[in-house]
Amino acid sequence: MVPVVNELYFDAQEPWYEEAACASYPAEVFFPPIDSPSAASAAKAICEGCPVREECLSFALETAQVEGVWGAMDAGERRRMRRRNRDRERRRAS
Ligand code: SF4
Repeated sequence: MVPVVNELYFDAQEPWYEEAACASYPAEVFFPPIDSPSAASAAKAICEGCPVREECLSFALETAQVEGVWGAMDAGERRRMRRRNRDRERRRAS
């Protein structure tokens, strides 16, 4: 049996994981072997209708997930978002 996303990646402590739209999809949809926009497009389409998208993205940013699609963002998009957030914080602090 192909492992599904919840079984592999979601911490059962996270209260939102039970509502995840990806729960029954094979993990490789959300963790494609190649980190590219086209490889991530199927996962992002599923995320678009997910009721816990914001919680998922926050979790991925807070825990610095470096692989896969979380909250409709691939690893590169999250990296750029973290960088923008960091730059904004630095500007505020100066
Ligand atoms: S936003 Fe995407 S990766 Fe996150 S729980 Fe929902 S479907 Fe899964």
